[in-house]
Amino acid sequence: MSGEYSVEAVVLESRKLGENDRLATLLTRRHGKLRLVVRGAAKPRSKLAAVTQPFDCVRLDVWRGRTLDGVKGGEVLHSLRRLRSEPKALGCAYCLAEIVSYLGQEGEADEPLYLLLLTCLRALSAGVLELLVVVFFIIRASRVSGFYPVLDQCVRCAGELEDESYLCFGHGGALCRLCAGDVRGDGASMTACERELAGNLARVHPRNLLEYEEDEDRLRSMLGLFLNYLEYQLERRVNSRYFMDMLE
Ligand SMILES: [Zn+2]
Repeated sequence: MSGEYSVEAVVLESRKLGENDRLATLLTRRHGKLRLVVRGAAKPRSKLAAVTQPFDCVRLDVWRGRTLDGVKGGEVLHSLRRLRSEPKALGCAYCLAEIVSYLGQEGEADEPLYLLLLTCLRALSAGVLELLVVVFFIIRASRVSGFYPVLDQCVRCAGELEDESYLCFGHGGALCRLCAGDVRGDGASMTACERELAGNLARVHPRNLLEYEEDEDRLRSMLGLFLNYLEYQLERRVNSRYFMDMLE
């Protein structure tokens, strides 16, 4: 393989490495998650600092290193500068980036996840209700990653669900009252209304998010429910979920 390559990516995180350098974590379009050294980017007036700003979509020229590859140059394709000046939207972007950093695999392309992240960051930057974007993101990310729960019938007996059902995290779906009877463990009750909302958000075209109207209390309860469900599936805590308290 040649000594250089180029990637299209969204910057998930950029942290200082030693005195002058930075270490950027990216979700690339074609190579999955990638960590790159950016030499000199921590110095004032570094040109490379501009292409490693969190949440921007960038194209980077990369050199191959022995342990880590590094950024040689690049350009910003879409700057989400507005995002960085809006505290609520910024908090949500951190939460999305953290979830993506758990779902993305190094060296394994996941274009649907990449496009979902890009779409949601743009929606936040365009002023779509933050609560709606995060709930939409978690629901779609769970679909893209293959653990979207079964909500249209009982996941255990395939029977019809009543108004009240129980979303059992371990079963990966809703249980009817009969099946939920002897089930203990992680989960929460889920009404027919909430199941319908999840189904709608699983299908809605992102371009319609700006006009999408939904009751904020219902979105808030969905956020808690789906964040807990996601953490169960990931087997880890989403640290930046405390940013979500700002959405009250
Ligand atoms: Zn059942």
